[in-house]
Amino acid sequence: MKRREEMTFLEKIYVVEIAKGLRVTFGKLLGNLWLHILQALGRKTATSAGVAIQYPNVRRPYPARYRGRHRLTLYENGDIKCTSCFLCATACPAKCIYIEASEHEDSNVEKFPKRYEIDTLLCIYCGYCVEACPVDAIRMDTGLHPEVYPADPRLFIEDKETLMERSRLLEDHGPERLYEMHMRRMQQFEKVVV
Ligand code: SF4
Ligand code: SF4
Repeated sequence: MKRREEMTFLEKIYVVEIAKGLRVTFGKLLGNLWLHILQALGRKTATSAGVAIQYPNVRRPYPARYRGRHRLTLYENGDIKCTSCFLCATACPAKCIYIEASEHEDSNVEKFPKRYEIDTLLCIYCGYCVEACPVDAIRMDTGLHPEVYPADPRLFIEDKETLMERSRLLEDHGPERLYEMHMRRMQQFEKVVV
């Protein structure tokens, strides 16, 4: 992006730039339309025509390695696996993981996270936190999109309980059912917003 003082006169008056933008938009539209016509006529094309997916009414299949929403993994007794080593927070390029470590009442457990939060508005879903964790305490295998919360940015901060609950839900319902629940919530959300 150019600063205003670096722009030429034609760029400053915007008209030419708007025309260039429209040329790109309509170029893509007509190109896609042409591909659809060719495919409707049974012709083979080098690229496939773009299709809008009617999310959240239609589900797009994700690859098995899709990095979805985070969860904190649990032991069979329901205890959190995280040992508050801070490796995930250190590896996170967006600096969006906040951990407050605390001593555990069980002397066999060195530390646990009293507070563990991910600011999902800052998160870039790179998966570095998962790679960095030495005890498999954080995963992004839920298959879910980043959550869309109502307007307040504080709601996008997912706390320890939310991240632990996601593991319980995945365990109880499995990824398919979890995704259906998510889609239903998104459909309700769309009705409220539209
Ligand atoms: S996915 Fe990447 S940006 Fe998001 S919390 Fe993990 S390390 Fe940070
Ligand atoms: S999630 Fe893993 S890497 Fe992050 S603090 Fe806990 S144990 Fe360490």
